[in-house]
Amino acid sequence: MSKAPKDDDLPSASTLAVHGGEPRSYAFDALTQPIAQTATYSFRTTAELVAYMEGRLEREEYGRYGNPSVRAVEQKVAALEGVEDAVAFSSGMAAITSAILALVKGDSHVVLFADCYRRTRQFVTGFLARFGVSHTLVPPGDLDALEQVMTDRTRLVISEMPTNPYQTCLDLDRLSAICKRHKAKSLIDSTFATPINLRPADHGIDLVIHSATKYLAGHNDVLAGVVAGGVGPVGLVRDLRHVFGGVLDPHAAYLVSRGIKTLGLRVAQQNRTALALAELLEGHARVKRVWYPGLASHPQHAIARRLMKGFGGVVTFELDADMQTTGHFVDALRIPRIAPSLGGVESLVEQPALMSYFELTSSEREAVGMKDSLIRYAVGIEDTQDILSDAQRALAQL
Ligand code: PLP
Repeated sequence: MSKAPKDDDLPSASTLAVHGGEPRSYAFDALTQPIAQTATYSFRTTAELVAYMEGRLEREEYGRYGNPSVRAVEQKVAALEGVEDAVAFSSGMAAITSAILALVKGDSHVVLFADCYRRTRQFVTGFLARFGVSHTLVPPGDLDALEQVMTDRTRLVISEMPTNPYQTCLDLDRLSAICKRHKAKSLIDSTFATPINLRPADHGIDLVIHSATKYLAGHNDVLAGVVAGGVGPVGLVRDLRHVFGGVLDPHAAYLVSRGIKTLGLRVAQQNRTALALAELLEGHARVKRVWYPGLASHPQHAIARRLMKGFGGVVTFELDADMQTTGHFVDALRIPRIAPSLGGVESLVEQPALMSYFELTSSEREAVGMKDSLIRYAVGIEDTQDILSDAQRALAQL
């Protein structure tokens, strides 16, 4: 009987990021994956077409059903996440909505953590509700509450890990055990963590999702999404992609594959800088509070330490200032650009009250825990000391 490989025998995440899921050679002896920029594929003869249709020949048929450049992204992400298969989409939201739709039916019940990405929440609470799918929102990180709301109709439990912007971390072993007891599937949006820092499937999670727009592609130049997991559930999601058509373009797929090659280096640098920035901010008199899973003060620091190899590149903090002064601080920063998104090589900063939550009043924002003086700083790969000096200088101007 063959033995499962010991951990020591497995390539590390950064090696998988470079070589994972790739063949040793490509067409034309190219070292890198050639971009298959084609919408369809031709058959040499009718006999070849029939062989394909009868399942005797494996090959591509039409661009919505498959493309070698897209398949390369899928195989690399599957290798990195340590799962059987993955399916790529034209955006993170296309991946999330397709995965959810593939796993629910008319009378299903879905459980979401209340701090879920707001578009995911909107899809479940608004869109799916119209088709008879019920839902329950449980407080961020509260697995006792999760246990209580599970029913025999619960088909799916959805969370991010860590969540945005407060970076709540969940005990994924316990979450997946709860789901298994209730025969529900677990879905974790692991965009913030990346497979360098966390592999949810190692903790029993069924489906792992990435907005590959963020760390995986890593250069703020492409939108993409991936769903990874076992062949069964991923197959259901792929079937739906064939129908909905939210496929990743081959050229965009190449950019994602190329981006992933440096994922290990980038995330290591982002982990390092974000921790140093979080520590600097926590020690500053004009900073009221910092949320970063790598700080001992973070409510789920112990869980993060147990599950994660690094704590990610996003630092959330609240200034001791009003909204306007907070804006002045953001404007005083010279390195990060003001923009939504995270995970790319450029540092980005945003005041959620003026970005994702702009349409709410101050008191409505307070009610959903979004303070006017809150800042989300997503570090890029710039020099750590430069980022710290820049933040220190902007703080001194407050
Ligand atoms: N999941 C998380 C955690 C996100 O932050 C985002 C985007 O901001 C998404 C999903 C959606 O991804 P995309 O913008 O690629 O559709």
